[in-house]
Amino acid sequence: MKRSRPKAAAPQSAKPKQPKPRTARLARDAQQLITLAAHCTKAGSRYEDIFWEREIIALGSKLMAAGQDSVIEAALDSTLDSSLESDLDTHETLISFCEAAAECSSVDVRGTSFDTLLIAMPMVAWSRYAIASGPLAETAVKGEKSISKTASALIAALHTHILAKDAQACMSPYLYSIDQMPISFSGVHKLAQKLTHAAIDKTQPSFDYAKLPAAADLLADVRFLIAGVSVPEGAPLFRWQADVAVNRDTCAATWTAEAKPLMAGLLPGCEFECLLPDAYFVSCREADRRVRPYAIRSAVAFLETTLKVKPEKVYAVVAAVGEKAVTEFRISFITPGQSDVVHGSIWPVFSAEEDESEIIRVLRECKVGNIITPDGMFDAEHCDDCGAPLFANTDSEMVHPAWPDDAEHAAAHYH
Ligand SMILES: [Zn+2]
Repeated sequence: MKRSRPKAAAPQSAKPKQPKPRTARLARDAQQLITLAAHCTKAGSRYEDIFWEREIIALGSKLMAAGQDSVIEAALDSTLDSSLESDLDTHETLISFCEAAAECSSVDVRGTSFDTLLIAMPMVAWSRYAIASGPLAETAVKGEKSISKTASALIAALHTHILAKDAQACMSPYLYSIDQMPISFSGVHKLAQKLTHAAIDKTQPSFDYAKLPAAADLLADVRFLIAGVSVPEGAPLFRWQADVAVNRDTCAATWTAEAKPLMAGLLPGCEFECLLPDAYFVSCREADRRVRPYAIRSAVAFLETTLKVKPEKVYAVVAAVGEKAVTEFRISFITPGQSDVVHGSIWPVFSAEEDESEIIRVLRECKVGNIITPDGMFDAEHCDDCGAPLFANTDSEMVHPAWPDDAEHAAAHYH
């Protein structure tokens, strides 16, 4: 199964992956993580499960607080690279508890115990203009800068539609693209601690967003708002926990009705869908999954509007990419009579059961006339100069996508 954390960068801006040197011996803490996770996979009772979970989360949190991501990564890589089924189970267990250690915690503040969780509010957006990201405008109240009106209104909507009544939330006033989100477990852990402690203290922390990279320029992409939530120990955090008659779909619908008009101000010139706010990691995966068909639809529409090529005339090559298993499909778009790939779109794969059938369904729905599915698996090749992923042409050669010189390409900023 694919490593399930948010990727370091949006797929189309991903740099080539450098092979990591294999260390002969794992650090003691890395080995300890593996041992604990292996015990957990074999536990015969819920009692024992809970025991191992606590041990793994305690060690994982300690390593994250010390910024020792390399130790955690070494444990994950070692279990992933193994061909033993039992090691892969250990790997899955380790990932899920490392995610838990990063996004949630239990803290004591002035004699009261709290449970905390980092949550994300995802949006799946598509546009022929650049999709906005960046800080939410601040408003000055009596000379002091305070959180923007939009942010306050979104937090109010979060309380109304998503959070249980005793929950407190603090939002980072920034519209994130995936490549602006924390990459490492320790980065997520740090942001979670900062926001959830502020939620408990009912303060607004300050952030330095200046070092965040620019968002990749994609036709369809995901955006997130991130908040820390705290509740008294053991209390329900989401509405559907507080009242079992409430279901997530109803919450998603009422949240969308109120939040979407607010978010529209953050995403000018875009069409978008709001997804249900949920825990950080699961939200990242869900948004990544949901944006995939939009990337194809936007590409086909863009070819039609910009190059005036009818979908029926377009060639799409759907290439499976990976080493041992397929990790993504790279979809090349080629115009009739040309051998160059004019545009490429990446479809990440989240489970071993996924094949190209859904991609083909979406391409057909878009009326793409020529769909080619070459045999075999391609290496995840990138351009040596700019790091852009390469895409298969109709001869199954991996090439650099190149937009025709005479066509306007760069997404304009919406004014
Ligand atoms: Zn290049």
